[in-house]
Amino acid sequence: MADCLFCKISSGEMDTDFVYEDDQVVVFEDINPQAPVHLLIVPKKHIADLNHLEASENDLIGHVYQVAKKMAAENGIDDSGYRLVSNCGDEGGQTVYHIHFHLLGGRELQWPPG
Ligand code: AMP
Ligand code: ZN
Repeated sequence: MADCLFCKISSGEMDTDFVYEDDQVVVFEDINPQAPVHLLIVPKKHIADLNHLEASENDLIGHVYQVAKKMAAENGIDDSGYRLVSNCGDEGGQTVYHIHFHLLGGRELQWPPG
């Protein structure tokens, strides 16, 4: 997807500092952090949003959760707690239409979200 920001970032085109990378995902710091730890876990494959997720991508999403667990431990928030969020659609708060998962922690998070 030529005009997709997260395709450009995940392919390395933007020279982003990755805190983690493997063959399926990249992880980098959110440019506008909402918590002391705010990482974005982004599949390299372009999937616009949750509405476009196929059953064939179930392993990929399971992998995302394993990476989130690893990132939480590496950032010392596994015991204190954290949140993994994927916003979908305009009212869900999605602004970048390439599926991604926010890992937020390092402070007490509120519920329900605003
Ligand atoms: P969402 O609003 O759920 O689609 O999440 C998109 C996130 O991407 C927001 O939290 C933005 O702050 C973040 N973001 C946008 N551009 C960049 C960028 N160039 N580098 C890192 N994070 C970004
Ligand atoms: Zn994309």
